[in-house]
Amino acid sequence: SLDFAERVARVEPSATIAISNLSAELEADGVDVVDLSVGEPDFPTPENVVEAGKDAIDAGHTGYAPSNGIPALKEAIVDKLDADGLDHTTDEVIVTPGGKQALYEIFQALIDDGDEVVLLDPAWVSYEAMTRLAGGSISRVDTSDADFRLEPVLDDLAATVSDGTELLVVNSPNNPTGAVYSDAALEGVRDLAVEHDITVISDEIYKEVVYDVSPTSLGALDGMGDRTVTLNGFSKAYSMTGWRLGYFAGPKELVDQAGKLHSHSVTCATNFVQHAGVEALRNTDDAVVEMRDAFHERRDMLVDLFADHGKDVAVPDGAFYMMLPVAEDCEALRASGTGDEPVDQAWCEGAIEDAHVATVPGSAFGTPGLARLSYAASEERLREGVERLAEEGYL
Ligand code: PLP
Repeated sequence: SLDFAERVARVEPSATIAISNLSAELEADGVDVVDLSVGEPDFPTPENVVEAGKDAIDAGHTGYAPSNGIPALKEAIVDKLDADGLDHTTDEVIVTPGGKQALYEIFQALIDDGDEVVLLDPAWVSYEAMTRLAGGSISRVDTSDADFRLEPVLDDLAATVSDGTELLVVNSPNNPTGAVYSDAALEGVRDLAVEHDITVISDEIYKEVVYDVSPTSLGALDGMGDRTVTLNGFSKAYSMTGWRLGYFAGPKELVDQAGKLHSHSVTCATNFVQHAGVEALRNTDDAVVEMRDAFHERRDMLVDLFADHGKDVAVPDGAFYMMLPVAEDCEALRASGTGDEPVDQAWCEGAIEDAHVATVPGSAFGTPGLARLSYAASEERLREGVERLAEEGYL
């Protein structure tokens, strides 16, 4: 039999798989599922970006690209970072096939066996898996009692980090909560990072998807320039999930070390996709605003619909997710019980089986008792989803 490496045994397949399997089974049976579990915008990639990709193929950009990225894209990225107050040169950037690969390279380059990584819960599922794959240990600070804000839990963060902490991951706007951290919160993070000499990943992949707030980039704060690794990607802002394009920028010595992993694993991000990325960064302001406005309207609508059903949610300032409290007072669960499962897992499975509405259990993000809803769906489908949940006793 195959003798697997210990490192793969350290991680589980994503907890969202149970939900998407159920969803797929139902749909195969002809059931109409309202899918509020997805982490991708429901818009096409902007047309000019698609054209730029096609043009790049026609122009023959189909061979290997320079490992860390084509110069035109690295320049566009440096300009974008500059607009966010981040001072980087093109040799401090690596272009990756998706933000996920960027994170993977950062974790692999920084985390040794036993190194401590601090996560802010609820936290996007892959940070934990990447920490474990690299052999790191995880400490967690929970924001869920503070409506997912960071400022009220800075004391908890201070009590958690130490000189032994290697890495802290900050994700604002946040998946799964949609929270955007305040400047005061980020300054609190800065003070702790400086005091304990901690490197911080600032995952800014939802930075363009915000309503009435403009998030500060952590690396722009005094003292953070040389200890922040800023991560971004094209999936969310430009609806380019399937193109697989992302990047990170950080201290030159980190980029040099991670660049070795990059060149020996992926070689480079897809050449013609990088050309489309230049167009996305340089020429999509209108499309970005259009998507943002649509998400904004849907957020308002969904918050109101839940309020009509007596459910108060923490109103998200960005991304396209919100967390719904599901632990308390659920008629359907009272009737059927939860067995041995965490209540949110039971709620999500019940919601998909009975109401045919797919969501993601909060325990996947370290916070049981909640469910993540994505509002990357039309207003009509969102309305339909809430109606079904209410009818089946899930609200
Ligand atoms: N970071 C966060 C917080 C995400 O939600 C995602 C995608 O879901 C990613 C990074 C990676 O996205 P991609 O690999 O598509 O760039």
